[in-house]
Amino acid sequence: MADRDGKIWMDGELVDWRDAKIHVLTHTLHYGCGAFEGVRAYNTVNGTAIFRLQEHTDRLFNSAKILRMNLPFSKEQLNEAQKAVVKANKLESCYIRPLVWIGSQKLGVSPKGNQIHCMVAAWAWGAYLGEEGLQRGIRVKTSSYTRHHVNITMTQAKAVSNYSNSILANMEALDDGYDEALLLDSSGFVSEGAGENVFVIKDGVIYTPDLSAGALNGITRNTVFHIAKDLGIEVVQKRITRDEIYIADECFFTGTAAEVTPIRELDRVQIGIGRRGPVTEKLQNAFFDIVNGRNPKYAHWLTRV
Ligand code: PMP
Repeated sequence: MADRDGKIWMDGELVDWRDAKIHVLTHTLHYGCGAFEGVRAYNTVNGTAIFRLQEHTDRLFNSAKILRMNLPFSKEQLNEAQKAVVKANKLESCYIRPLVWIGSQKLGVSPKGNQIHCMVAAWAWGAYLGEEGLQRGIRVKTSSYTRHHVNITMTQAKAVSNYSNSILANMEALDDGYDEALLLDSSGFVSEGAGENVFVIKDGVIYTPDLSAGALNGITRNTVFHIAKDLGIEVVQKRITRDEIYIADECFFTGTAAEVTPIRELDRVQIGIGRRGPVTEKLQNAFFDIVNGRNPKYAHWLTRV
C-alpha cells in the first residue's frame, strides 16, 4: 500500500503518500502500544460524507486516554484532518484510518520521553467480507483463541496490541476454510468477531453480548440499536453462549468495515434458513439508507467533507 499517489495527514501536515514514513525504532512497532480508528465515508445523496465522525474521534481519544497517551492534537483538528484526507485524495466513498503511536526517541518498555504521533490515511475499500457475504451471509468458526479478558489488555480501547489476538483468530478461521472468526471470552461466553460485533435474533428479539464480554463498544453496534428501536424491535444485551447461536433464527456481524454482514453458518452448523434472514435484511437496508443519506432523521450523523 505504500507505493501509490495521494496524501496522508501526518502530525498536522498533508504529506505525499510515499513519504509518510516512520523509523524502525518506533516504540509502538516494538511494544504495540498505540490506538487507531476505522471510519467510513459514503457517497451520499448529498455528496461525500463521513459517517459518525465525532463518535469515532471521541473513541480514538478515549482509547488514547486508556493507554495513557496524551495526543498533541484536539478533537477538532482530528476531525478536520479526516475531512482533509478524503478531499485531498479525491475519494467519493472510502475507509479512513486514523492512528496514534509512540515515537522513536527512546526504547524500553516505559514510553516516557517519547513523542506521541498521529496520522490519518484514506483509501477506497469495498465490502470487507465481500459483496456476496453481504447478500448471502458468511461462514464463521468459533476460534480456539480466547478474546482478551477485560483486565489484560483494555478492551474498550481500540488498541493496536489487541489486534494480534484478532489476527490469530482470523488466520486460523481462513486457514480452516471459513470467512471469519468468532471469539469467546475467558468464561466461554460469546464476545465478538475478530473485527466485528455480533448479534443474534431469536423469536423476534435481538441479542448482543454486553461489553463485559470484552467486546469493543462498536459504533455500528450502536447504530443498530437506533435502527432496531425505530423498527420496534427489542434489543437485549446479555451473556450469550455459542450454542444459542447454533439455534438462533438469524445472526449477523456489525462493524465500520463489515457494515451489517449476515452469518449463515457457525462451526458448520446452519443458522436459521442458512442465508440472510428477513430481520437482518431489514436492518441492513435501514443501515444503508442512513449511511447513504436517505434517512433525514440521521442526517446529523453525516459530516460533509
Ligand atoms: N470489534 C472489533 C474487535 C473491531 O475491530 C471492530 C471494528 N472497529 C468492531 C468490533 C466494530 O466497531 P465499529 O462498529 O465501531 O467499527
